[in-house]
Amino acid sequence: MSSQYKKINIPERKNIVLIAHDNKKRELLEWAVLHAKELAKHNLYATGTTGKLLERETGLEVTCFESGPLGGDMQAGAYIADGKLDLVLFFWDPLAAQPHDPDVRALLRVAVVWNVPLACNQSSADFLITSPYFSGKYIKTVTDFTVYKNRKSP
Ligand code: PGA
Repeated sequence: MSSQYKKINIPERKNIVLIAHDNKKRELLEWAVLHAKELAKHNLYATGTTGKLLERETGLEVTCFESGPLGGDMQAGAYIADGKLDLVLFFWDPLAAQPHDPDVRALLRVAVVWNVPLACNQSSADFLITSPYFSGKYIKTVTDFTVYKNRKSP
């Protein structure tokens, strides 16, 4: 692999953010209850309302950002840019307009920029959680943005 890429070690215990839009909260909660034992091995983050519900229904400890429409998705995005989140489980609703759609898109975009594993529906979440990497070490390849950062600006 060329030097345009660099490797990042992702440890066994990961920092995972869970987010669900209102019409998808029940689906995410049921999924999280089913996988609570596996999720308990990680540090969990969530947007405000999703986090409160997750704590109540799974008994797991969750660090809550602000509610999504109040900036929580952007906080999660900032964590990704800082290398502080390793995996995103975001059950977003494709059938309802969201007031914070630009924030949602920004979060999805920055997750892709930093090659963060991202599940946007239940079957993808199933694939991720059953991967040996979910609770094992993983070496991630990300673009080395040094050239971009040192580019000549007009
Ligand atoms: P919430 O935010 O967990 O506070 O409802 C989710 C979202 O809409 O992004």
